[in-house]
Amino acid sequence: MALDVGVVGVGTIGQEHVRRLDGGPGGSRVVAVADADAERAATVAGQLPAAKVMPSGEELIASDAVDAVVVTSWGATHEPYVLACIAAGKPVFCEKPLAPTQEACRRIVDAEVAAGRRLVQVGFNRRYDPAHRALKQAVGGGAVGAPLLVHCAHRNASVPPHYTRDMSIADTAIHEIDELRWLFGQEIVAVQVLTPRKSSRGGELQDPLLVLFEMADGVLVDLEVSVNVHYGYEIRCEVSGETGTVELADPAPVTIRRAGTVAGLVPADWRERFALSYDVELREWVDTVVAGRPPQGPSAWDGHVAQVVSDAALRSLHSGGRVSVELPAQPELYR
Ligand code: NAP
Repeated sequence: MALDVGVVGVGTIGQEHVRRLDGGPGGSRVVAVADADAERAATVAGQLPAAKVMPSGEELIASDAVDAVVVTSWGATHEPYVLACIAAGKPVFCEKPLAPTQEACRRIVDAEVAAGRRLVQVGFNRRYDPAHRALKQAVGGGAVGAPLLVHCAHRNASVPPHYTRDMSIADTAIHEIDELRWLFGQEIVAVQVLTPRKSSRGGELQDPLLVLFEMADGVLVDLEVSVNVHYGYEIRCEVSGETGTVELADPAPVTIRRAGTVAGLVPADWRERFALSYDVELREWVDTVVAGRPPQGPSAWDGHVAQVVSDAALRSLHSGGRVSVELPAQPELYR
């Protein structure tokens, strides 16, 4: 059975997802697109055999032609679209962040709980990356004994002009927030953001940041967030345990030796680094929706918890100091 998907927001990642969803191996096709930029929507639809441009995201979600929805507009616009999908009873894959505040995420969780079934999956794609899966398997399998410390880095070559200071946490570090919860099966109980000397390349941004996370079992995590490194896109994670260390391997496909130097290639951006993760993520989502099962991936609850931690980190960024993370009780639907 083919799954007819509508995509709201066909910018950078929207177009990436459209390419994977239209005629993909899971048996999906894109039948409708909507975007604040009508011309962009028309261009994207024009490249697809079965897609229509819808005048708005709301009309796309309401359309009988659309079985399931992918929301890839900017984070601040996600909430009304996800709520409309829940009200319409349609499965929805929403890019991270689920919504930019914990209150907005809570409204989504409450709506899903009231509907009585899981319809929402959040685009925390690290969970689908083969290297991250291997890291989780190594840690969970006891390869390095009990984890004690974790060292992470999230480095972007550059960010668009509308990227604000808070987005280093709410839009960028949000990936590590979900990754750490998933990697260790533990909640983050406290967070502190430190602001080192500013990069002269960061303009008004406070760049880089050093974020310290405390996990429930006492593991300490340091995360560098740099968003103007220019040399490429780099994701690092090293777990230091009682009996050894395990880290993500260098993703470079080749090593070049020439003129007395050894070099590996650094991915240009997230599209290159995580291509395989998006393939697996969307394939598994389509398979689950087609089978009529609730989504197996990151839930609205995961999106909500990530935002609670992100809000705590933003309080630390704005006011300084260590901020405890207070999580609400988890609804039965997500247990
Ligand atoms: P983008 O290139 O700016 O694309 C967003 C698109 O949504 C633009 O075409 C924009 O139009 C449109 N749009 C804005 N408001 C809208 C609305 N209310 N309704 C419908 N369309 C609207 O952004 P992006 O980089 O693709 O990011 C989109 C989302 O994906 C963000 O939440 C981001 O955090 C997430 N993301 C996730 C990953 C990942 O690895 N999982 C990677 C990248 C991005 P205008 O340009 O006219 O505003």
